[in-house]
Amino acid sequence: MTREMHHFIGGKAEKGTSGRFGDVFNPATGEVTARVPLAAKSEVETAIQVAADALPAWAATPPSRRAQIFYKFRELLYAHEEEIASLISAEHGKTLPDAKGELARGIEVVEFACGIPHLLKGEYTEGVAGNIDSHSIRQPVGVCAGITPFNFPAMVPMWMYPMAIACGNTFVLKPSEKDPSPSLRAVELFQEAGLPDGVLNVVNGDKEAVDTLLTDPRIDAISFVGSTPIGEYIYSTGCANGKRVQALCGAKNHMVVMPDADMDQVTDALIGSGYGSAGERCMAISVAVAVGEETGDELIERLAPRVSALKVAPYTDPESEMGPIVSREALDKIMGYVDTGIKEGAELVVDGRGLSLQGYEDGFFMGGCLFDRVTPDMKIYTDEIFGPVLSVVRTKNYDQALKLVNDHEYGNGAAIFTRDGDTARDFTSNARIGMIGVNVPIPVPVAYYSFGGWKRSLFGDHHIYGMEGVRFYTRLKTMTSRWPSGIRTGAEFHFKRSSDH
Ligand code: NAD
Repeated sequence: MTREMHHFIGGKAEKGTSGRFGDVFNPATGEVTARVPLAAKSEVETAIQVAADALPAWAATPPSRRAQIFYKFRELLYAHEEEIASLISAEHGKTLPDAKGELARGIEVVEFACGIPHLLKGEYTEGVAGNIDSHSIRQPVGVCAGITPFNFPAMVPMWMYPMAIACGNTFVLKPSEKDPSPSLRAVELFQEAGLPDGVLNVVNGDKEAVDTLLTDPRIDAISFVGSTPIGEYIYSTGCANGKRVQALCGAKNHMVVMPDADMDQVTDALIGSGYGSAGERCMAISVAVAVGEETGDELIERLAPRVSALKVAPYTDPESEMGPIVSREALDKIMGYVDTGIKEGAELVVDGRGLSLQGYEDGFFMGGCLFDRVTPDMKIYTDEIFGPVLSVVRTKNYDQALKLVNDHEYGNGAAIFTRDGDTARDFTSNARIGMIGVNVPIPVPVAYYSFGGWKRSLFGDHHIYGMEGVRFYTRLKTMTSRWPSGIRTGAEFHFKRSSDH
């Protein structure tokens, strides 16, 4: 019988009561392995109320006490690393080392959050004017919600709830309905670490659950990570309902390859960043911009045999370099883009369609695809394909390459490979992109920096985790005090400058 999943509300597992379910697949076999309950509005409202009830006590818990729970949570996550990685791979399809890598990057945010007593320290100035002092503090925003995508089922939720909770907020997480198990397990471990009931809740669901979070007046802030059309909807609806919103969205990450680049390094970088996790990463490189025809020729010559030789296999095979696509629907969409690219006139150098693995014929597998001579007017260039499809675009010079990067509607990540410091510096200064790599293909910032794109890759003002996370999940309050209080100034009718005192 298919396993039935649950929500996690008020410190315990709760069965879904809506009568609606979604299927969770093992993408390697194509089998349904579990049914996830899709929460009704009333169930989400219960979770929100539970989080609202838990807020006053949690917000009043000293940051050092919060940090103790985080230390324990970190230990438990490492103790259950194998188990959580297997849950990720079984529902997402990515290889086990990749699953462990994403979990580790999530745990790094938990480690950063352990420093919350220091991170929340305010500012104080004695004597801003005669007998007057000023200080500022950061207070929790309130009840926060997180809505997360399928592609990093452990890491992306951990970009959100550890920071929010460390800052004294309570949280309702709505993970992707495609692979909710890693979050459901992590929340149990957090509870085991000593997190009070109701501080972190998980509701599974679809649009109905999300719309409840977006409109309920008890929710104060929303973090979203997912595709651009949905993110734009989340941002506008959340803001219209008076909430603080950050929505991190889709991407088309370019890697500019200069003629002086180390081509061995470039080839390795493109294979890993283009095809790792089957291209289902918001920081995947999906466009290689070859500067100069010779660079383009050499790139294709080197990449083609490597793409053809990619070891595509389920995560249970330790040799696997690339697992299946997350769903049949996503696989069909990616294949559709490959067809479109051919019709648009791009050269399909490696065709990964039609791959069938013995014993896994119903799995959602495809091989890597490589396009050459892609041009900016093609849909395979403009759209985020989110699969193992790398496009090579050729430009005459660096300026054209930079223009391509800047003209694209997305601005999540970009990389440049070169040995020339001037070019690298120009690129880091002038690319209209949130995260840039120099000879680094996937420049995901470490936990004590912050992650976020520009242009239509992010709606809102704050990037996620790091100090930006602290700013997003707190409200600034500034006090001005006069002591001793007995000094008479008389009624003051004009607005005073501090130098008037
Ligand atoms: P998605 O937008 O389909 O789903 C994201 C979340 O939104 C899920 O929880 C889903 O249940 C919910 N959702 C889906 N449709 C909705 C609707 N109509 N109304 C309300 N909520 C809805 O994204 P996905 O396919 O799960 O993830 C892939 C996308 O996420 C890619 O575009 C990728 O670039 C992006 N992504 C971005 C980042 C980043 O940091 N910028 C990181 C990871 C993934």
